[in-house]
Amino acid sequence: MNIEAYQKILAKVNSYNATLVAVSKTKPNEDLEALYHQGQRVFGENKVQEMCNKHESLSGNYQWHMIGHLQRNKVKYMANFVSLVHGVDSLQLLKELNKQGAKNERVISCLLQVHIAKETTKFGFNYAEVEELISNNALIELCNVEIIGLMGMATNTDDSGQVRSEFKKLNSFFENCRSTMANSVFNVLSMGMSGDYEMALDEGSNMVRIGSLIFGDRNYDN
Ligand SMILES: *Cc1c(COP(=O)(O)O)cnc(C)c1O
Repeated sequence: MNIEAYQKILAKVNSYNATLVAVSKTKPNEDLEALYHQGQRVFGENKVQEMCNKHESLSGNYQWHMIGHLQRNKVKYMANFVSLVHGVDSLQLLKELNKQGAKNERVISCLLQVHIAKETTKFGFNYAEVEELISNNALIELCNVEIIGLMGMATNTDDSGQVRSEFKKLNSFFENCRSTMANSVFNVLSMGMSGDYEMALDEGSNMVRIGSLIFGDRNYDN
């Protein structure tokens, strides 16, 4: 847990008018509380069960972002409180989020995850699929979800030119989507993690997801 690093990162992120998601997966409640005490409200988790446990055991105005791959059968456990779902990667998942949003009489904010990395292991739509989805009339009927932007993860590589070009491409695609969408809530571009957030901000990100630089290394990765 590194408060100094947090403050430095926050100042940088604020200077871009971006949002810092503190990625607290695998970390104990005390670490989240220490950051909450510093004024941080937005926390990112990648496991539904862990996020629910933290939500139930921590009091305050925590805003919970689900940043990981989400299984449809788990949506119901977090539908009443999740504040943003970053990893929407199928229409079926969006429909389930809509159904659970309706049950809870709320609108769930979502980002479409775009596969921008070279690795085949990362989830997400390709660009053509996103274009098809956002022009799809089926979306209009989904009144209990709101697509407010895009999320992407760059290739895990030392080749910074590769990473930069992936961010650039996602940003220009995002700008295109934004201008074609009548819907003015489409405003969030979630890209950048501990290793690449400064480059992501330079390339147009307005939401970064940072874990290890703030909380220290995780014992296991997931
Ligand atoms: C874990 C995770 C992060 C944060 O990674 P760090 O390298 O620790 O900053 C960001 N985004 C997603 C989707 C993650 O799963």
